[in-house]
Amino acid sequence: MKRLSLLIAAALTTAACTSTSTSDNTAANTNSVWPKLPIKVTKKSAEEEKVAEILAGMTLEQKIAQMIQPEIRDVTVEDMRKYGFGSFLNGGGAYPDNNKHATPEDWIALAEAMYNASVDDSLDGSTIPTMWGTDAVHGHNNVIGATLFPHNIGLGAANDPSLIERIAKATAVEVQATGIDWVFAPTVATVRDDRWGRTYESYSEDPAIVKDYSAAIVRGLQGHADKDFLADDRVIATVKHFIGDGGTVKGVDQGNNIDTEADLFAIHGQGYVGGLTEGAQTVMASFNSWHGKKLHGHKYLLTEALKESMGFDGLVVGDWNGHGQIDGCTNQSCPQAINAGLDIFMVPSDWRELYYNTIEQVKQGVIPLSRIDDAVTRILRVKVRAGLFDKPSPAKRKYAGRLELIGHDDHRAIAREAVRKSLVLLKNEASLLPLSPTQNILLAGDAAHNIGKQSGGWTITWQGTNTTNDEFPGGTSIYQGIKRQVEAAGGSVTLSENGEFTDKPDVAIVVFGEEPYAEGVGDRDTLIYQPDSKRDLALLKSLKAQGIPVVAVFISGRPMWVNPELNQSDAFVAAWLPGTEGAGIADVILRDANNQVQYDFTGRLSFSWPSHPTHIVNLGDDDYAPLLPYGFGLSYGDVNKLTDVLSEEYELDSSSAPAITLHARSVQAPWQISLTAHGKKQMVNANTLSVGGMSYRTIDWKVQEDAFNVTFSGDTSELFSISAGDGVNTQQLPTIDSDTVMMLSLQQTKAPQAAVMLGINCSTSTTCQREFNIQPALAGLANNEWHRLAIPMRCIAMENENSLTLKIPMSLRSDSAYSVNLADIAIGSEAEADAKVTTCN
Ligand code: BGC
Ligand code: BGC
Repeated sequence: MKRLSLLIAAALTTAACTSTSTSDNTAANTNSVWPKLPIKVTKKSAEEEKVAEILAGMTLEQKIAQMIQPEIRDVTVEDMRKYGFGSFLNGGGAYPDNNKHATPEDWIALAEAMYNASVDDSLDGSTIPTMWGTDAVHGHNNVIGATLFPHNIGLGAANDPSLIERIAKATAVEVQATGIDWVFAPTVATVRDDRWGRTYESYSEDPAIVKDYSAAIVRGLQGHADKDFLADDRVIATVKHFIGDGGTVKGVDQGNNIDTEADLFAIHGQGYVGGLTEGAQTVMASFNSWHGKKLHGHKYLLTEALKESMGFDGLVVGDWNGHGQIDGCTNQSCPQAINAGLDIFMVPSDWRELYYNTIEQVKQGVIPLSRIDDAVTRILRVKVRAGLFDKPSPAKRKYAGRLELIGHDDHRAIAREAVRKSLVLLKNEASLLPLSPTQNILLAGDAAHNIGKQSGGWTITWQGTNTTNDEFPGGTSIYQGIKRQVEAAGGSVTLSENGEFTDKPDVAIVVFGEEPYAEGVGDRDTLIYQPDSKRDLALLKSLKAQGIPVVAVFISGRPMWVNPELNQSDAFVAAWLPGTEGAGIADVILRDANNQVQYDFTGRLSFSWPSHPTHIVNLGDDDYAPLLPYGFGLSYGDVNKLTDVLSEEYELDSSSAPAITLHARSVQAPWQISLTAHGKKQMVNANTLSVGGMSYRTIDWKVQEDAFNVTFSGDTSELFSISAGDGVNTQQLPTIDSDTVMMLSLQQTKAPQAAVMLGINCSTSTTCQREFNIQPALAGLANNEWHRLAIPMRCIAMENENSLTLKIPMSLRSDSAYSVNLADIAIGSEAEADAKVTTCN
């Protein structure tokens, strides 16, 4: 219970700070918190004159087009010719012609066609070159064959800014080889709650590393301010997401940061200090709020702090429909964002409406023309500095089409070096590592031979899921790297995912860890690894029980609470998300053929390793001791610190209570949605699915894809269900008592004419299926409006059903045609329902 009271104390402190910083919002002197930065790229009069001259010749329509950034899945070359957009993007997992296997030539062809359409003035009268932005966040990660570097969290452990600069430079070259101008990197979040799904995009919980790295990566991407700035082999960089994304309450993606203004700068602002000083030309606004106000509409932070006070003279680009989340805005209309200081709307699909609405808002005086001129000046300034008016078209640029540069050996060598330097040795009992390569080695675990899994999110696809080893030509799995070195030295390697063998091995290397995820899909309630299945723990245990020494290689996007797994491992390596060069792991854990150490472990934790499942980095709270502190990491010869008897007990405070909450964005994990019709069951693993006459589709409610629609045709064999996948600890679901309710947010688009059965099931068979007809409750709800409905669990389950492990916490079927939008389904105690079921009948 000690923990609980500490957390309450921490919450009170934060609350106290909240009120002060609200008044800070109106602070007259922003310079006291947001200092003027010694930015190395300065205004040059010739460039400024050129910008002014272009601006003077532009129509309002042409100016607004510069401020609109559509996405390649929803904009054509002809649209570009007609409107002349200032920029466009490809989102994570978006490729030319929607073809995952698009070749580098296909990428160049699209870059060339878009560019030529933008400088073609036949329809829009404009010859301003467009620019293409992409998420090259760990290498050019949407392109098959590119070198994929360790994600930022691993780079942070390497603590080597010069390595980071080389990585950034190699990335810039691979991006230029496909004719692209601009990358949406680096992410400079300083993460304080590792439950956030984007923790791996952060270099460190320590702002000092984030600051140095941000400078180094910007230098590598854009070149040096005084030397080769935005030369042919460089790309425009983006420091993102401004500001406070790593400090939201409970690590909720796109959530609310309630830090004081001083902490916002001191903790979350340091990446901007580093990157902007080095001359980063663009900043991406963040999805998150600060004290409840969305950053996309935050004039004080975007305009006064960033631009006026710190002196940033480049452009601010929005995040994916981020403007649509501002109070009073939609994706199609948002003068508030421009007035707050946003210069480019990232508006993947709804660009047409937004373009016309914005033009109208300027004409009506809702947006002052001076603000438009300022935004366009900034956009043109970046283009002039990048030489876009002078460079030839993308296909004719110096590096374009030099296909040998994509996945080049020199780049892979840098990536492999980065892997070696990112590994952190947490445990090494009896100096088990380094291993002799002349032994008989068993390689187990489902990450041993899986390049997609070792690369994490933002890898070929947005979530990093649904890839095969064949989709990484030139890449090496961890198993392949080990096998090559062991066999060359005369040893042998057996690959067996589940750890089975015929000849007893001398040692087992078990490679396991988190499945890939990106953004909110990766948010977790706790840091417990595999809270439900404990499959990998069972594997470690069985090997250990057979007397086989075990080396654990843990793949993860964040530090996790793995005390049970640590106890079952003789050596434990935190490998983070190494990317395509898995051989870097063999380089460190294996001795060479002459039994000498090849490379020692030099990686050190840039995130403290949790002693508790809800570990939050709270500087100054000495009671919150991590298991292993920031900066920890063993080298060969160091005395091992961790024993085999780490505590496997924990208490969760009530704020991380286990109530089930299912957001549509987490349909992939840990919850699984399935549709069944006529006995045929199909898992939902995309944003649409139809089975028989029933369909499922994600929709936007408050944020992108945070709700879904289910439509039943009236065929009574149709069943919608949500079941507990890997990673759900059903033991922790609330005990069902007289207060427990299921809550759903719902909007009916077609009312039911017959029974709608809400069900639960404690197994995946039908043995303990229980159902309750909710149609009488639905009948009272107005169509096409959102409601929050609470249904007492006692109507469905039996009261006092202790630890009823709900494998299917929710199912729905309808005896008539019925269409409903659903979001935020939760089981717990009731909160804020506007509609309630009161009798169970
Ligand atoms: C895109 C991503 C984007 C995400 C935003 C996806 O469809 O491919 O690039 O970050 O939506 O939620
Ligand atoms: C992400 C950004 C990314 C953008 C474009 C957003 O959802 O938050 O980091 O740059 O999508 O893909």
